Amino acid sequence: MLAHSLWEFYNYQLYCTVRTDDGQPNRHRINGITGPKTVDTIRVCVSIRDNDRKEEGLVHELLHANLIPLGYPRFWFEECTPENWRLAKGITNLADHVAMFPIYSCLGYSTKRFLGPSRSLNELERRVHADLREMGERLRTPQGYLDSISQYLERNKFRFTPLYLTNAIIAQRSSLKID
Ligand SMILES: [Zn+2]
Repeated sequence: MLAHSLWEFYNYQLYCTVRTDDGQPNRHRINGITGPKTVDTIRVCVSIRDNDRKEEGLVHELLHANLIPLGYPRFWFEECTPENWRLAKGITNLADHVAMFPIYSCLGYSTKRFLGPSRSLNELERRVHADLREMGERLRTPQGYLDSISQYLERNKFRFTPLYLTNAIIAQRSSLKID
């Protein structure tokens, strides 16, 4: 049901690969964002490791993609060092998890399997984790997410633009002549 609604929302631009389990984490990417104000065809690419958590892993990655139709912003980051870029991605990834978790558990999946085994966090990442946990409930609405994460990124001196991709995706629907 989730996959089907995303399949339609993203104009069938939803790709999924199952890879042999090499111990790397599952991923999702939103392709087609070319700048803070420019988008190409938006495509979602999910890659899942073939292990005993692959169903939960797939649902998890799809729930990241599902935040866009729910009205949550994505963020475009201005050029920064690879280290800062990783941190920025880490912040938005953890914030997504807070927003996704109630839906994941409503779908009836084991909450213990929401996350795969993760590498241990460094001190900075642990601090981000604690800060986001404090934001808690506020991350569970699109507006609260935007306000809290924007403030947090500003405080940490990131240069970014929030992105709302729904309109672009709907506009692409008519240009792709799909309904
Ligand atoms: Zn995730």
